Amino acid sequence: MEHMLQEQLIRDVKTLCGLPEGRQVGSAGNRKATAYAAGRLRDMGYGVQEKSFGCLDWEESGCRIRAGKEDVAGFVSPWSLPCALTAPWVCAGTIEELEETDMEGRIVVLHGQLCQEQLMPKNFVFYNPEHHRRIIGRLEAGRPAAIVAITGKNPELAGALYPFPLIEDGDVDIPSVYVKDTEGEKILGQAPGLLTLEIRSRRRKATGANVVARLEGSSGRRVVLTAHIDAKKDTPGALDNAAGVATLLGLAERTVRRPVRHTVEVVFLNGEDDYAQPGQMLYLEDNADAMDDILLNINVDGAGCRGVRDGYCTIGWPEKGSGLLEPLSDRTAFAVMDPWMQGDHMLFVMAGIPALAVTSENLDEVMGEIAHTPQDTPDRISPEKLVRLSAALDRLLLALDEQGMGE
Ligand SMILES: [Zn+2]
Repeated sequence: MEHMLQEQLIRDVKTLCGLPEGRQVGSAGNRKATAYAAGRLRDMGYGVQEKSFGCLDWEESGCRIRAGKEDVAGFVSPWSLPCALTAPWVCAGTIEELEETDMEGRIVVLHGQLCQEQLMPKNFVFYNPEHHRRIIGRLEAGRPAAIVAITGKNPELAGALYPFPLIEDGDVDIPSVYVKDTEGEKILGQAPGLLTLEIRSRRRKATGANVVARLEGSSGRRVVLTAHIDAKKDTPGALDNAAGVATLLGLAERTVRRPVRHTVEVVFLNGEDDYAQPGQMLYLEDNADAMDDILLNINVDGAGCRGVRDGYCTIGWPEKGSGLLEPLSDRTAFAVMDPWMQGDHMLFVMAGIPALAVTSENLDEVMGEIAHTPQDTPDRISPEKLVRLSAALDRLLLALDEQGMGE
C-alpha cells in the first residue's frame, strides 16, 4: 500500500502544480484545485462541502515608468488598479515626510524607512502593526495619482523577491508599482519633474471555496486537519503547499479505513497566500459558535522537502498530551522547531485550541528561497516523506482516539 500511496500523493502534487492558471485565489486554477481535492475526498467516502466566498481575480501585463529621459524598470504591485498618466512626482522617505507632503494628483515615490518591509493589507485582521496602518491611512487620505515604491530585499516578509512589493492589497485603490533600489536612484537622482506611469492590469470579481470534509465519529468532538490549497501567483506552489494538501489526502485515506471515535475534519483552507485570507475568514465565521468541540488542530504547510527533515512545533499543547507526539519522535525524520507563530494553525491557537504545525526544519531558509517563486516545483518534494508524515499523523490520531489528550 505504501508504494501505491507514494505514487498517488506525488500525482496529487503534480496535478495541483500543473494547473496552467496557477492556484492564486480567484483564478480558474484555484477553483479547479478545490474541485479536484473535494473529488478525491468524496471518492474516499468523506462527506464533503465546498464553502464558497467572493474574492478578486487579478491579472497584469507589465508597466512602463519614465522619469525625464530615463526608463525605469519596475513591477506592478499585486492587485494594483491600472493607470496611464503623466504627473509631477514628489518623494517621501519617512512617515513624517509623508505626512507633510502634498500628494494630491501627483505620483508619490516612496523610499528609505517607508519601504523597509511589506505593508500588511489594510483589512488583514490577524497581524497589522500600527505604523503600517498609519502609512496606508496617510496614502489614502493624500490621494496621490499613483505610487512608486523603491524596495530592496526582505526575505523574511516577502519570500525570495527582490525587489518586493510594498503594497499587495486589493483593498487599496491607488495604482502602484515597485522598483529595485538601483532603479529608484534614476528617479531620486533627478530634479523633481514629470513622471510617466502606465500600469496594465485588471481586477475582476470572482469566487473561491474552502473544502471541508468530514469522517463522522461518535464522541461529539473533532480534530481539524488543515492545509492551505491556494498559492501565490506565478509559482507552481509545490512545497507551498501542494505537498501539505497531498499529505492530508494520504492521511485521510488512512483514517477512512478504520472506525474513528473523534470526527476527522479535513479542511483545505483557501487564502493563506492571499491579501484578504478569504477562506480563513470564512472558516472562522462558519465556526464562530462551534470552536468548543475542536480537540486539536494539525496544520501542514511547507513539509516534504527533499534533503531536509520535516520540522514541527506545538502551540498550546497540554503537557499531559505530550505522549501523543511519540509518532514524531524519530529525530532522523522529524525535527522539533521553535513555535512558528504564522500560518493557519494560528486560527486555532487564537481560540485556545492546541495546535501542531508541520513544515520543514529550516523554515526561513527553505521558504525564503523557494516559496512564492517559480522554483517551487514538484521535483523538490519527496513522495516517501509525504507518506511517512501521513503515517505518523495517522498514528497520532489513533492514539488520540484511544487515550484522549492524556486526561
Ligand atoms: Zn504556505
